[in-house]
Amino acid sequence: MQTSVIGFPRIGTLRELKFASEKYFRKEIDTDELFQVAKTLRETHWNTQKNAGIDYISSNDFSYYDMVLDTAVLFNIIPKRYQELHLSELDTYFAMSRGYQGEAGDVKALAMKKWFNTNYHYIVPEIENDTEIRLAGTKVFDEYKEAKALGIETKPVVIGAYTMLKLCRYTGEKSSDDYASSIISAYQDFVKKCEEYQISWIQFDEPSLVRDMEKADIELFKKIYHDILSSTNQSKVLLQTYFGDVRDIYTELVEMPFAGIGLDFIEGKETNHLIEQYGFPQDKLLFAGLVNGKNIWKNHYKKTLSTLTVLQEKGIQTVLSTSCSLLHVPYTLKHEKKLTPEYLAHFAFAEEKLTELQELKSLFESSDYSLEEAYQKNEKIFATDRNCDNADVKNRLALITEKDTTRLPKRTDRQALQKKELALPEFPTTTIGSFPQTKDVKANRLAYRKGEISQADYIAFNQKKIADCIALQEEIGLDVLVHGEYERNDMVEYFGESLGGFLFTEKAWVQSYGTRCVKPPIIWGDVSREKPITVDWSVYAQSLTDKVVKGMLTGPVTILNWSFPREDITIKESISQIALAIRDEVLDLEKNGIKMIQIDEAALREKLPLRKSDWHTEYLDFAIPAFRLTHSGVKPETQIHTHMCYSEFTDIIPAIDNMDADVITFEASRSDLQILDSLREHHFETEVGPGVYDIHSPRVPSVDEIVAAVNIMLTKIDREKLWINPDCGLKTRGVSETTASLKNMVEAAKQIRENA
Ligand code: GLN
Ligand code: ZN
Repeated sequence: MQTSVIGFPRIGTLRELKFASEKYFRKEIDTDELFQVAKTLRETHWNTQKNAGIDYISSNDFSYYDMVLDTAVLFNIIPKRYQELHLSELDTYFAMSRGYQGEAGDVKALAMKKWFNTNYHYIVPEIENDTEIRLAGTKVFDEYKEAKALGIETKPVVIGAYTMLKLCRYTGEKSSDDYASSIISAYQDFVKKCEEYQISWIQFDEPSLVRDMEKADIELFKKIYHDILSSTNQSKVLLQTYFGDVRDIYTELVEMPFAGIGLDFIEGKETNHLIEQYGFPQDKLLFAGLVNGKNIWKNHYKKTLSTLTVLQEKGIQTVLSTSCSLLHVPYTLKHEKKLTPEYLAHFAFAEEKLTELQELKSLFESSDYSLEEAYQKNEKIFATDRNCDNADVKNRLALITEKDTTRLPKRTDRQALQKKELALPEFPTTTIGSFPQTKDVKANRLAYRKGEISQADYIAFNQKKIADCIALQEEIGLDVLVHGEYERNDMVEYFGESLGGFLFTEKAWVQSYGTRCVKPPIIWGDVSREKPITVDWSVYAQSLTDKVVKGMLTGPVTILNWSFPREDITIKESISQIALAIRDEVLDLEKNGIKMIQIDEAALREKLPLRKSDWHTEYLDFAIPAFRLTHSGVKPETQIHTHMCYSEFTDIIPAIDNMDADVITFEASRSDLQILDSLREHHFETEVGPGVYDIHSPRVPSVDEIVAAVNIMLTKIDREKLWINPDCGLKTRGVSETTASLKNMVEAAKQIRENA
């Protein structure tokens, strides 16, 4: 048996790529230096996999920003407005990913979307009417050669043609059908080029196959690969899927002349069943995704080995693989010095997953694996009680009824009361919560964490920051203020640290988008709140101003979705436990005079099942009530806000309205404003603040630009329901661009009030 890795984390064990890229953006290093860092990382990553005995190692899983954008560039899918900047290849690429404001021009970044059901975000390529799709890039071949020079034969990976057609945005009159033939011939040229390099395996990633597929989709897929495969002679094609099962196309897929097919046995609920029912051809390799690429718990060898045995008994040639790219897990446990060995024994990050692949391979080949030490060690981990139950939490949850998830009186009645109570102007202006996390803010937290400063000093520093932030917001003229979130490293980690049941890592970073990484906590046990978390900060901020200060919390669904979840209880159970904890915090804020409370659900959509048929039963039916549980206990006058990133919820608008918040702010500025039509169609009741500018980019929006955006919004949204705000928190931005942008935003609101 052989082993395969779909993709490896590229940011570096200590986020080397992030830091080098950011230096490059700040013009502190040049292209060559950035290239050198990248090259060293690739070399390390390939060697690490080689030394772990991995048989199928990917290349081109490295990226300077995003692998979808890389594939777009490979096929010349570069909108004109970026080409017209006449920048270098690399800078054009970064202009697409981050926007560009400088001598060469002023363009926004391409839209960003969540990558399937992960917390990774990809850049949405745009195909224009006259985009000429053709093989244009060389990165994939360059990296293949680079590995080859190190003596490592890799399988270059690119996003497959079907998934690309599905993910691109078509900005002209044409649709994906019109581009099928040009994309096919571009991929044919790609395959031909691979053959020239004598590449033995090519990996096409086709995660779109795990979504619902219509008949036409299946036909399109068949046509694409019929044509692509007919131009291959030497290079073998691995059709790689992940994040679910391929039930709609399984029977067709196994008949097609792929040399290998990669299936997900972790998230693919039907995968075993499909193989059982329809078989798997003996002349192909099955890349069995049995080592979880998304979660950090150790693989249970007994289970995996028994699946492998079943496959072997069926005569299937199996390659043991990860279930998806290891991009979604942290790099290594080696840097975790604070967690005790008892905890660490349960986890496997990317490097340790390589070891698992290797151990599983040798166990499977041994005559009786149950006698082997690696097996027995693994069994012992799963046999010991983890000591993670909290009876109080379980008892409290058992008593929750529908009444506890229903807020009264009904929203329209509350909204009238709140208008009176809060006395805000028309089109109230606000922000999403965080203000720039400048170096001093991070240094203060770090010093406190390391015990270098006292708690009193730590608090005093943050209070000074809060006071400055309140003063700044008053000066800018915002209507609803925030305290700035200086005490928070990350909106989930912060709450996790204050709740019982979570574990924390020191260096377990996972790429979220571009150079941004998150360090998700691990849900180890039952979750409980021991004492108030945010109350002091909010109360202090409110004491400094007559304007309303929003309390700022993270919602239960997001806390779960941005943590590594337990595998021994359901996510429903974990979300409900967290909801109870946040409910206590909401009520404490209210008791202490906070009149407006925002409960962020940035990641609500993230775990929405990829198949529509599962949306309600497997997710929304418990996630939405859990959110309501957090706020249903407040007084009618208390205004509950929520915030969601990415307006990709057109298809779940009733569910969002069902969260029963009074106001929702969301990201609309980077994607088109289609969402507004849907809100109207569904008689959306919640007041809305569709972000008026993009905070993911450093560019400063002009007043006119914001006025124009709001005027479009006003054609779709009732004026008494519209809020004006940026599209997300400001913590990643610099101070000067933030102040300038917010001033323009407030000025725009003023003009609109005067003219609307
Ligand atoms: N309140 C958070 C902030 O402003 C929300 C962040 C987010 O939506 N990702 O940073
Ligand atoms: Zn956001």
